[in-house]
Amino acid sequence: MSHSTPTDYDALVIGAGFSGLAMLHHLREAGLKTHVIDGADGIGGTWWINRYPGVRTDSEYSYYSFSFSQAVREEWVWKQRYPSGEEVLAYLNFVADHLDLRNDIELNTFVERAVYRETENLWEVSYRDGRTVSTRFLISGMGVLSQPVFPAITGLDSFAGEKYHAARWPREGVDFSGKRVGIIGLGASGIQIVPVVAPQAKEFVVFQRTPNYIVETSNDAVTADQMQHLRDNYDAIFEKAARHPFAVAMEPAEYSALEVSAEERQRIFESKWNEGGFHFANECFTDLASDPEASELAAEFIRGKIRETVQDPETAELLCPKTYSFNGKRVPTGHNYYSTFNLDTVRLVDTLATPITEITERGVVVDGTEYELDVLIFATGFDAMTGTLTAIDIVGRDGRTLSEKWADEGLKSNLGISVHGFPNFFMSLGVQTPYANLVVPIQMGAQWLQSFLMWAKESGIDRLEATPESEETWRDETERAAKATVMYEEGKKAGAWFMGDNIPGKREEVNVYMGGHGTYQDFCRAEAEAGYPTFQFQTSPVSA
Ligand code: NAP
Repeated sequence: MSHSTPTDYDALVIGAGFSGLAMLHHLREAGLKTHVIDGADGIGGTWWINRYPGVRTDSEYSYYSFSFSQAVREEWVWKQRYPSGEEVLAYLNFVADHLDLRNDIELNTFVERAVYRETENLWEVSYRDGRTVSTRFLISGMGVLSQPVFPAITGLDSFAGEKYHAARWPREGVDFSGKRVGIIGLGASGIQIVPVVAPQAKEFVVFQRTPNYIVETSNDAVTADQMQHLRDNYDAIFEKAARHPFAVAMEPAEYSALEVSAEERQRIFESKWNEGGFHFANECFTDLASDPEASELAAEFIRGKIRETVQDPETAELLCPKTYSFNGKRVPTGHNYYSTFNLDTVRLVDTLATPITEITERGVVVDGTEYELDVLIFATGFDAMTGTLTAIDIVGRDGRTLSEKWADEGLKSNLGISVHGFPNFFMSLGVQTPYANLVVPIQMGAQWLQSFLMWAKESGIDRLEATPESEETWRDETERAAKATVMYEEGKKAGAWFMGDNIPGKREEVNVYMGGHGTYQDFCRAEAEAGYPTFQFQTSPVSA
């Protein structure tokens, strides 16, 4: 039997969101002494942090939950088709209670540095409060969109009014009544804030750089029959989502947008628009994410909807994206976004043609006009995929950080799970993992790692690491897959976070796997069935 130096934990997981909870449950089941830490003062990860007005899922309740716990499946009751942030947070707390996870979760605990000690084969993890712990396996469950960014606009700090970032919203909420409010940033976060906050404000100014294609939806209450249907079909629904390219439990489309008549195309677009949200992107046609011509047809359909909805033609035209086609950015689900621009108190300022030049003590300056504001909201996104992993020091073999490795070599990983030079370090939703409804890959990733670590234990192996060759193979596959989609070229035009293009100075490269969630899971399954050939292993010497 091998004996490495004893550690405080077998597995330490950073992050107590969906990833951390799934990891804790599955690694405990594998017999590992597992501990989860989170810098926040509540569990929930992204759903703890994002508490801005209007926050809710863009995925429907039926495929936005774990399938692995019978007890949770039987007892949890969803209320809304698109659950609010508060509802998802309640779900995660319910999961933590029902799976008895809380006693292994430590909150208000922020990791500053984690160093791999080769001789002892352990990770030494330093917390901000000065404590240091050791663990055999270190797992990131820090999320892919967790490192918020403010824009580099001159004078940002000089604004004298109230200033909020969507991902740093005050828990006590914000009173907008009688106030002049401005918003910068109209991705999936900003477009949820606009319809909720605008009616509360005296004046509401939307500073728009790149418009989005937003698919509107209604948000009905979930009925008892719908909940029963979900319970009766949970595994089938989860499996359907797992096989879907974007991990949503939806029917695959049958036809290319280019092979049907214009009338038929319009009829299909219309019917899926009426179903709302992700139904439009996923169920209309087979090629809205793969063929530029098809993507442009969807783009034009949505422009038509914007022109129909927004009464002022000039505002409608500004809201129509024209510099990239449909799917070039992650398509958000809207809840009366476009109709909000019909309110007399709402004003749209185009900052694409004439960028914001300055933020002053009083407000925002565009084209020589100073828009005076009491409150300024930033929904300006995240240093996606890599931001959290490079914000702290994760130091692998030879003293090299993850940040240095990726800066030198570009993004590299094996299946988005493991990185060469960082033995026994694993990522839930790492770089180059699927661009999808993330709850599904989170669950499946935790189950995959559970099997891998159990296999290693049974094989007497205690040091696992991606081979250098595996990283080249996975990068090639990630690039190949992305280039077969419209997201690659259109994403670059649109400055999409999944291409690294939303952060000035960040390397432009494919950050996510776009070959489809089902295909990604096939790779993971094949890897396990073949005995993990793309990993290298070591067994610690037998102690005397
Ligand atoms: P985002 O999609 O990256 O959007 C950031 C916004 O800020 C963009 O409109 C961007 O404009 C604007 N911006 C950034 N810097 C700017 C500058 N210097 N001047 C003017 N505008 C600037 O960020 P996000 O909305 O937070 O969403 C990120 C991702 O999180 C989403 O794609 C989604 O995957 C996830 N998310 C999901 C949900 C949900 O499921 N309900 C909700 C929120 C977020 P440009 O486009 O011109 O750069």
